[in-house]
Amino acid sequence: MIACEVYACLRMPSTRYFAAGRALVLAIVLACAASAPAFAARAVVTTEPRTDLRTGPSKAHNRITVLPPGITLWANDFVDGFYRIPLAPILHAWVSQGHVRPLDRSVACPAVQSLRDISVKGIEAGSVVVLRIARPVAFRVTQGIQPPTLTLDLFGVRLARYGVRQLPSDRCTWAIEAEQVTDGWARLTFNLTFAQQRGWRVAQGDGSLQLLIRRPYETASLSGKVIVIDPGHGGSDSGAVGPTGVREKTVNLRIAAKLKSLLEGRGAVVRMLRDTDSAVGSGSTQRAELEARLAASDQPDADLFLSVHNNAVGSGNAASAYGTETYYWSPMSALPARIMQNHLSASLGTKNRFISWRPFYVLRSSDVPRVLVECAFVSNPTEEARMKSEKFATAAANGLAMGVEEFFQIVANVD
Ligand SMILES: [Zn+2]
Repeated sequence: MIACEVYACLRMPSTRYFAAGRALVLAIVLACAASAPAFAARAVVTTEPRTDLRTGPSKAHNRITVLPPGITLWANDFVDGFYRIPLAPILHAWVSQGHVRPLDRSVACPAVQSLRDISVKGIEAGSVVVLRIARPVAFRVTQGIQPPTLTLDLFGVRLARYGVRQLPSDRCTWAIEAEQVTDGWARLTFNLTFAQQRGWRVAQGDGSLQLLIRRPYETASLSGKVIVIDPGHGGSDSGAVGPTGVREKTVNLRIAAKLKSLLEGRGAVVRMLRDTDSAVGSGSTQRAELEARLAASDQPDADLFLSVHNNAVGSGNAASAYGTETYYWSPMSALPARIMQNHLSASLGTKNRFISWRPFYVLRSSDVPRVLVECAFVSNPTEEARMKSEKFATAAANGLAMGVEEFFQIVANVD
């Protein structure tokens, strides 16, 4: 009964309350209008090596895509330091003001461009998709692994003709689908001829956008394979520090150095991002250092990227967590991540905790499969004690070398 009365009250407020409410809303609207003038739409250009376009105006929002520098975008709102970017009539993104530079007010909203010519041809590195397009555009590449696909979304682009020419030299794609999702949002889907992808990259300029699809792995042998190894942290960045003072950077480098000699012994070409106790970049900020590592590891002939770390518990009971974890970001990195994790924890005799998808900075490129291993917990007293002996580094390096070997054996036999 009481509930009913309350409900009735809520549904039927007196006219007096209504009038007061309306006046209050009007006052708030007028006050806001006076203090925050409407944003005047303008062009901005991406400036960062990796500009994040997100689903909302904060860093907590997920990424829709990551763009290179030099892409002009149209901003039609500004909230909390983020510009709102209409990518297509049904899709907008938000970009931090720190990732773009506003252009002169005289720069007009970029017109939708017509895409008239698409071709795919084979080159030494794989297959290259060439789109004739006058100005660089915002894009997104999505990788699928089952079935193996690459999907290229182009924003501000209209398919003027649906024809796609596949030249006989193209060995990477077997069917290409073209679709106009909405006006100004074109989508090309490349169905690939092989299961384990090796990477892709996009370049724009000189009137074209080029998507390189790297050719598949062809042999199981480690001979000639290029492995890029990133011993985590270094220099002024110690990484995690254990209860008795063991530094993660030292253990990481010791494992990486042993892994290098094991892989070289089997014919691989190993490139270390650091082989001394040092930073890779200028080390001015953590982000600058991570970007320097990502840039240094971006090598056109790389076959696999491995970042070697040891783990720590950020807060809570440091002794409670122990064991091995492995991380990946691009879908093509899931298989090597799983293989590395299993060999690493078996060789170390550690608890096999999990593999996990996570956008760690050095994993955020799709040029090559990228894996980050956390061998054990430096914050755990038992595992920290083990890290003091050479045996630990040897066991970790052995596990990783076995993982690298098995990965190439599997992918060479899949196709
Ligand atoms: Zn680390």
